[in-house]
Amino acid sequence: MKMDRRIKALGMISGGLDSTLATKILLDMGLEVEGVNFSTGFCVTEHSRNFKDPDKKPPRPNEALRLSSELQFKLHIIDVSKDYLPVVTSPRYGYGQNLNPCIDCRIFMFKRMRKLMDDFGAQFMFTGEVLGQRPMSQHREALKTIERDSHLTGLVLRPLSAALLDPTIPEVKGWVDRSKLLALSGRSRKPQMSIAKEAGLEDYPQPAGGCCYLTDPQYAAKLQDVFNHNGKENLTHEDVLLLKVGRHLRLSKKIKVIVGRNERENNFLKVYEKGRHVFRIPDHPSAHVLAEIKGEPTGEELRQVAAVAARYSDAKEGAVRVEHWYNDTLEIFETAPAQEAELEAWRL
Ligand code: SF4
Repeated sequence: MKMDRRIKALGMISGGLDSTLATKILLDMGLEVEGVNFSTGFCVTEHSRNFKDPDKKPPRPNEALRLSSELQFKLHIIDVSKDYLPVVTSPRYGYGQNLNPCIDCRIFMFKRMRKLMDDFGAQFMFTGEVLGQRPMSQHREALKTIERDSHLTGLVLRPLSAALLDPTIPEVKGWVDRSKLLALSGRSRKPQMSIAKEAGLEDYPQPAGGCCYLTDPQYAAKLQDVFNHNGKENLTHEDVLLLKVGRHLRLSKKIKVIVGRNERENNFLKVYEKGRHVFRIPDHPSAHVLAEIKGEPTGEELRQVAAVAARYSDAKEGAVRVEHWYNDTLEIFETAPAQEAELEAWRL
């Protein structure tokens, strides 16, 4: 039975396997589908696209865009990164295992979806969520809380798990055929992979887990360091960007150092020199090094950062000449590179 073409479903689309299948199910029922892809600033794949080493395998395109072109539906890519910061700094429902505020994150996005449903004339929204797949936001109670707090109770269809959940408004009203919805649950992606194979869907990103920096323990450690030293309320969009780039070393309460790991990161860091101390090694190839220093640094503190910069250059020993630039003022240090044990203790 083909469903009414005038019924429009608005999907939250990542372009991963789950949202691919959810979209395909609704399109196969004959519904009109539009998609929304939110950019929070914490997306790992988006960052890898910008920073992947060009000598390695080329990065995949934006997966949501690829899917919209493959399945032929309209996609809206919406940057929410600036408004998203308070979700990360003060989540009402707290954090998951790392600094991932998953429940608040979903409420934030669903509230946006509620508004976009009106803007785009959609009668309900859908996601590729699977019951029990993510521990914080995809258990039954969390799903209900998220819907209630975003004023969408009954209007969120989860085609992959719908048969295990209470019928939603689109099912009750007959806009969607409940008998064609799935009963998937749990963390295994094998059932989705075999359904995709049967449907002839092959070009989807391999489910690797961890598409969000906030669930990454290393990123979370660096973010926690910013919270501890600058105060959560002072987190900026620039902090979020810089935390994704380079090695970060905390030398003291006053000093944090960022070291580029490849040419792309070095070039990126050059854009963020303003207001930071810059360390360069004029006589050897080296990483680009920035230091965020609170207040006036002592000569000894600057020498310590210079030693870090020397360590991340091709000059592995002896006295290394290091340029220190701050507000167009140049100072030269001669120092031995820092010891590996020191770096180990400072590394975030
Ligand atoms: S993993 Fe990241 S993007 Fe996904 S719900 Fe949690 S905080 Fe939001």
